[in-house]
Amino acid sequence: MSDKNIKKVSSHPSQNEGLIFEHSSPGKKAYRLRQLDVPTVDAAKELGSALRGEAAALPEVSEIEIIRHFTRLSTWNYAVDYGMYPLGSCTMKYNPRVNEVVARLEGLAGAHPYQPEAAAQGVLRVMKTLADQLIEICGMDAITLQPAAGAHGELTGILLMRAYLESKGNPRKKILIPDSAHGTNPATAAMVGYEVENLPSDPSGMVDLAALEAQMNEDVAGLMLTNPNTLGIFDAQIGKIAEILHRKGGLLYMDGANMNALVGKARPGDFGVDVMHLNLHKTFSTPHGGGGPGSGPVACKKHLEPFLPKPIVVEGANGQLRLDYDRPQSVGRVRAFFGNFGMHVRALAYIMANGPDGLRQTTEDAVMNANYVRSKLAGIYDLPYATPSMHEVVFSDKLQTKNGIKTGDIAKRLIDYGFHPYTVSFPMVVHGALMIEPTESEPLEELDLFIDAMKSIAEECASEPELVKGAPHSTRLSRLDETAAARKPILRWKPETK
Ligand SMILES: *Cc1c(COP(=O)(O)O)cnc(C)c1O
Repeated sequence: MSDKNIKKVSSHPSQNEGLIFEHSSPGKKAYRLRQLDVPTVDAAKELGSALRGEAAALPEVSEIEIIRHFTRLSTWNYAVDYGMYPLGSCTMKYNPRVNEVVARLEGLAGAHPYQPEAAAQGVLRVMKTLADQLIEICGMDAITLQPAAGAHGELTGILLMRAYLESKGNPRKKILIPDSAHGTNPATAAMVGYEVENLPSDPSGMVDLAALEAQMNEDVAGLMLTNPNTLGIFDAQIGKIAEILHRKGGLLYMDGANMNALVGKARPGDFGVDVMHLNLHKTFSTPHGGGGPGSGPVACKKHLEPFLPKPIVVEGANGQLRLDYDRPQSVGRVRAFFGNFGMHVRALAYIMANGPDGLRQTTEDAVMNANYVRSKLAGIYDLPYATPSMHEVVFSDKLQTKNGIKTGDIAKRLIDYGFHPYTVSFPMVVHGALMIEPTESEPLEELDLFIDAMKSIAEECASEPELVKGAPHSTRLSRLDETAAARKPILRWKPETK
């Protein structure tokens, strides 16, 4: 490896940990308990012929071996608590610890979904307050907190559109999706039974308005627009887009997973959006990626409200909260109980800790950080769209492919510099994309280390291309056979047969 003056090179913590089965030896146990002094169940008698003939081949290890095994494995993880995680589109922002403190309050953490409403006023108040705040942030009229993730929110939102159009007499056939959309958008439309029609972007990376005018007709239920889109570009023609759709009776769905660029600055409800989802686990700092679960609330305008999943938390005249199940036009339930309540608590804690000014500042910092990275790396990496960036910036590997290096190689080399890779080869509209989203969490010092690393890798691409192509060099395992990993995954350990 070259010995350049790089400020941040870290080796991956790489104990040579085997499988837990390899620690096993017969008869070891991870507990020691005294003999019971009460009668025990006779399993053989109770289970009869259902009792298995021989014990399952489970690992037999001591308590400390279990603890060490999983603790060692945990050090192989990369996390936002460990370093910058610039995975574009995923908004890997820091999860403030105050959220966790609030989520662990006994009355919230121990709440049970079957608790009677009278004894659950506090948790209902959390849901109602969050619902009201999100409605205000989005500029919408109503919301459901039920969906469990972004894509699940999309599904719910498109079901609402379909139910609304059906109530008008015709669900229609098609959904338009721009080529810069997130991959979940076309999948969602197809799941709801719509035909997906691709809508091209113009050279600035925005929706091609002439194409939209030409493609919009009475067969089209609506358009799913990610805004800012996956190029990190805010489609400033959004008002016009809404108008074109509405004129022909269609609806505008906004994929709001990128609200990190808008909160406190612009409200989708004000620029013509009919229905949208939010990713609490992105914009509102609830944990995601191994730390899940997520939450994907769907906010809508008045005309779609009757179709929202039930129940909805409503406030009676006496200030008592209750769950309203009496919603005859509802699309039904999309999730058991009331959604991922623990995420509602964390998101509300985040919103209230920041307040309106703090949320606005967060948005500005997220956009500033992305533009700082953009300005420092432009020219070193190719910038396919000159349109200003919002919260993320997309480069291409065009300048590096000369030496046979692709975006995936650069990403793997970044691991050697102690960073999580950026998003590779997405969005698909950019060939060889490097999609970088620093989020507002990163201090200037960490951004500079990242920029240094990216510059250093660009130099290596010219001077030592093989070094980059063979990366990562500092991890426990280097290049894996990606095809075999996808086609012939070995997901299960089996004992050697004697
Ligand atoms: C992350 C993301 C989604 C999907 O959200 P999940 O919670 O992963 O289902 C959809 N659209 C966009 C633009 C996203 O960034």
